Amino acid sequence: MNGKRYIKVVVPLRLDWEPYYLLSDGVEASRGSRVKVVFAGRPYSAVVWETGCPEPPEPGKVRYINELEALPSISENELRLWKFIADYYLCTIGEVYKIACPLGLVRQDRSAKLAKLKESLHDKLSKAGSAREGTKKKAALLEAAEKLKAQISLLDDTLPWEPVQTKLSKAQAEALGALRRAFLDGKPALLDGVTGSGKTEIYITLASEALSQGRNVLILVPEIALSGQLEARLQAYFGPRLYVYHSAETEVQRSIVTDAVRKKPYVVLGTRSAIFLPHNNLGLVVVDEEHDGAYKQDSSPRYNGRDCAAVLASLHGARFLVGSATPSLETIFNCNTGKYARISITERYYGSAAAKVEIIDTTAEFRKNGMVGNFSRKLIAQIGKTLSGGGQVLILRARRAYSTSMQCTQCGEIVKCPRCNVPMSFHKDSGKLVCHYCGARKPSDACPSCGGELRGIGSGTQKIEEETARLFPSARVARLDGDTPGTARQEITESFGKGEIDILIGTQMLVKGFDFPGLKLVAAIGADSLIGLMDFRADEKAVQVLSQLRGRAGRREDAGMLMIQTSQSAHPVYRLLSGLASAVDFENELNAQRQAFGYPPFTRMIDLILQDSFDRRLDYLSLQLASRLKEAATGSVLGPFPPQIDKIAGKFIRIIRITLPRDGRLMAAKHTLRTLVSDFESFHKWSGHIAIDVDPL
Ligand code: ADP
Ligand code: ZN
Repeated sequence: MNGKRYIKVVVPLRLDWEPYYLLSDGVEASRGSRVKVVFAGRPYSAVVWETGCPEPPEPGKVRYINELEALPSISENELRLWKFIADYYLCTIGEVYKIACPLGLVRQDRSAKLAKLKESLHDKLSKAGSAREGTKKKAALLEAAEKLKAQISLLDDTLPWEPVQTKLSKAQAEALGALRRAFLDGKPALLDGVTGSGKTEIYITLASEALSQGRNVLILVPEIALSGQLEARLQAYFGPRLYVYHSAETEVQRSIVTDAVRKKPYVVLGTRSAIFLPHNNLGLVVVDEEHDGAYKQDSSPRYNGRDCAAVLASLHGARFLVGSATPSLETIFNCNTGKYARISITERYYGSAAAKVEIIDTTAEFRKNGMVGNFSRKLIAQIGKTLSGGGQVLILRARRAYSTSMQCTQCGEIVKCPRCNVPMSFHKDSGKLVCHYCGARKPSDACPSCGGELRGIGSGTQKIEEETARLFPSARVARLDGDTPGTARQEITESFGKGEIDILIGTQMLVKGFDFPGLKLVAAIGADSLIGLMDFRADEKAVQVLSQLRGRAGRREDAGMLMIQTSQSAHPVYRLLSGLASAVDFENELNAQRQAFGYPPFTRMIDLILQDSFDRRLDYLSLQLASRLKEAATGSVLGPFPPQIDKIAGKFIRIIRITLPRDGRLMAAKHTLRTLVSDFESFHKWSGHIAIDVDPL
C-alpha cells in the first residue's frame, strides 16, 4: 500500500458510485467525516464512506484531500439509514445525502436566540420601570415583557418546567398497557383510535417515559401547519424539551434543532425530513396520521417518511408506534401478518358519540326538485337549523376555483391548458382561466378555437362560497383553499375557532388537525370527485378524508353531523360511513379487491415514470424499455401507459408499472431493475427522463 491512504466519499450528486480520494499527510478522517473535495472541477463537501481502501484501478487519477470540513461527522446510524433509502428506493446515496444535509445551513444554537430574547426582556422591563405609572406606554411595555417571558420559558431548558398533567381515561390506560406489552415483545404497534379518542395523550405518556429513561423521541406528522393542536399540547407538556422541525422552517430554526439533537435530551415534532436529523439514542418514534400521503416525497429520492421512520427506529432499538383513525391497508397488512400489534380505541375521550352521517342522493333529490344549485334542500335546512342553534358549519368541496372547467357554447370544446392535458379552471376573482398543474393563465372571454362564448361546468369552492352567501345572507361566510394566501390561512382558522365565522368552505385542507368546539355540522358537496378515480387507492383515500371530516364535527359534549351529497349513494364508501357496512367488512372488501388484482399490500409495486417533450421519442423509448423489462422477467410488467394526466408543463408522461411478489427476491429484482434502467439510459443517451418510484401512492 506504500503508505497511501485511499478512501471513498459520497458527494451530493446523483452518482451511482463513490469516488476515490487520497488523504494527505496530517489529515485524519474516518467513516462519516466531512471533507472538502474537488469533483469534476467543482468543490463539494463530501462524506467519507469507507477508509483503508485498496489501491483503485487508476491510481494516477486520484486526487488528494487536504482539508476537513468544519462540520460535525455523520453517525453510523445516519449512514445506515442513507444506505437503506438508496437501496430500497433505487436512488443513489449522493441523492440521499443531498436532501439529508441541506447545504448552507447557518450554524446556530438556542443560546444565541435566548440571549437576544433576554436582552430585549431586560430592555422592556427597564423602560417600563422608568415609564410613568398608569400610562398606556407602561401597560404596553409590561404586556410585551410578559410575552417575552413566555417565549423564554419555552426555550430555556435551565428553568424549571412543570408539565401540564392529565389523567388517562380507562380506555386510554388500557391501550397504553397493551402498547407496552407489544413493545416488550419487540413489536412495532399501530394505535388505531377513532378521532377524539385521545391518541396524543398516549404519545405524550410514552414520550415522557422515554425521556425519563434518558432516551430521545421523534414524533412525525404529515404537515406542521396542520398540527397546531398537537404542537400546543406537546409544548405544554415538554416545554423547552420540544423542538419543532420541518423543511419550510427558517435555516436558523433548523440549525437550532440540528444542534440540540446532538447535545440535549429532546422531543422532536417534525415532518418527514426530520428523520434525517443527527438523531442519537432514540427511545421512541411515533408516526401520527400514518395513512397520510404527505409522508411520501414526490421527487427523488421518493421515500416514504413513515416507512423510513420504522427503519430509523430499528437502527436505534427504539419503540415504534404509528397512529391513525383510518389506518392504511399497508399497516393493516402488517398487523394481519403479525408483524405489528394492533391496539384500538373505539370510544372518544369526551364520551360523545361520533357524528351522525346522512347520505343525500343528489340524483333522486334533483328529480324531486330538491336541489337549489349545488345544495340539496335537506342540507339547506340542516345548515339553517345549525346556525339558528348557534353552531358552526364546515363545507368540503374537493375542487378549488369557481368552475372546474369551461366549455364553449358554440363548438362544445373544453378549454385545455396548452402545456398540460387538463381542463383549465375558471377563477372568478381574477377573471382568468388557470391551469392547476402548471399555473398557466389565460383570459376567459372567448373560446380559443372558435371565439364562441364560454360556459362554466363543475362547481368549485368559489362558486359554493357564492351560493352559500346567497342562501344564508346573514351568515358570516369564508373560504379556505389552495388559493388562500399562506398568511391568511391561519387568520381564517383562528377566527373560525373563535366563532367569528359561521360557515367555512374549503378543500381537503380543512379536514386535518383542527379541533373547533363550535363546529356542529360538516358537509361534503360533490363527494363523488373523491371516489371512483383511476386510482386503486381512491376508495381507501375517500374514506380517510370523509372520516377525518366527520371527526371534525361535535368533538366535545354533543354529537355533530356529517352530510354527504352524492350521486352514487350505494357506493361501499358511503355504506361504511353511514354504518350500513362495518369497518371490518370494508377492510375485507378492499383487501379482497387488492388481492384479486395483485395490488399492494399483497404485492410490491414500482412505477417507472418516463417524461419527454417529444411524444414520439417518449413512446418509442418507453416501448423499448418495457420490452427489455419483460425479457429480464423482473416481475410482471404493465405498460407503458399514459397516466390520467399525461402531459404536464409541456412534458409528456408514460408509466411502466412493475409488480413484484412479496418475497425474499425483492432486493435482487430491484438490483436487476436498477442496472437495466441505468444501462438503458446510457445506451440511448436518455438520462434524466426516467424516475423510479418504489411503493408509489
Ligand atoms: P385524537 O388525536 O385521538 O383524535 P386527541 O388526542 O386530539 O384525539 O384528544 C381529543 C380531545 O380529548 C382533546 O381535546 C384532548 O385534549 C382531550 N383529551 C384526551 N385525553 C385526555 C386526558 N387524558 N385528559 C384530558 N383531556 C384529554
Ligand atoms: Zn398547465
